[in-house]
Amino acid sequence: MSDDVLSIIPTDPQWQPDRPAAERTAALAADLAPGQDDGIEVEIDVTWHEALTPVDCGANLERIGCPHCDASIDIEWYADLLETHCDDGFATLAVTVPCCGAATSLDALDYAWPCGFARFEIAIWNPERDWFDDDELATLGDTLGHPVKQIRAHI
Ligand SMILES: [Zn+2]
Repeated sequence: MSDDVLSIIPTDPQWQPDRPAAERTAALAADLAPGQDDGIEVEIDVTWHEALTPVDCGANLERIGCPHCDASIDIEWYADLLETHCDDGFATLAVTVPCCGAATSLDALDYAWPCGFARFEIAIWNPERDWFDDDELATLGDTLGHPVKQIRAHI
């Protein structure tokens, strides 16, 4: 069985909230994603990561674009990187891309669908809803105390 996971992460990969702000934001996310109409609440995971951790879109990843030369970067290259760092996370997002050799940040690559890196994540499992709209994202960010972005994974 596959799952859809809608995750909220701070736009700054290093940023972490305090616990009360995180709990308020998770409660808001639960209100915004009521789940299936059967009285069962969706499962929401709130995680603080020690190190920079990839929040990727799983099977929804179609393309990675280079911000410098616009080439498509081999998705296998990204998958290998994630596998290498799956236990201990990333100490830095600085990277040399394989297409043109530019020095950039993993967070600056052009992912379709969106992917990110974070040390804090709110993951909503099988939310049974579409993307958050701009107003909802702004409200989630205000509640958390930092602007957020969303990642939608199919796993
Ligand atoms: Zn390039």
